[in-house]
Amino acid sequence: YFDTEFFSTLERMGGGNGPLAQEYVVAHEFGHHIQKLEGTLGRSNYNEPGPDSDAVKIELQADCYAGIWAHYADKGPDAILEPLSDEQVADALKTTKAIGDDTIQQHSGGGVQPDSWTHGSAEQRTKAFLTGYKSGKMSQCDTLERGVYS
Ligand SMILES: [Zn+2]
Repeated sequence: YFDTEFFSTLERMGGGNGPLAQEYVVAHEFGHHIQKLEGTLGRSNYNEPGPDSDAVKIELQADCYAGIWAHYADKGPDAILEPLSDEQVADALKTTKAIGDDTIQQHSGGGVQPDSWTHGSAEQRTKAFLTGYKSGKMSQCDTLERGVYS
């Protein structure tokens, strides 16, 4: 669940406002649903933040799963999107950068403090999305190193 007002907030934060940028947000949240089904979502603990924390690993995996969605969304007989353009992908990456913990911290003027990250840096989030997008494979999104995907 998220408030669609978030899309306006996202734009103010420097994120993309194209369809794929918005769909990335939805796909990320759906990624958390997959994690709930996988039984891993509960490992996220915002009380123990940091760039290598389980909280960040869970968020990066959701970004990666969102990338997998984008990988398949414009392919095959059941494609739900027209072929994605480089511009659309770049627009989505604008969003992964805008919502990086370090970007948000820079904008809020408090300085970048990795120890308090819960969602990952702009670089981590962009890399996670692209990993899923380019590979289309859950095994490439194994941020929790469970080794259960083939
Ligand atoms: Zn999330």
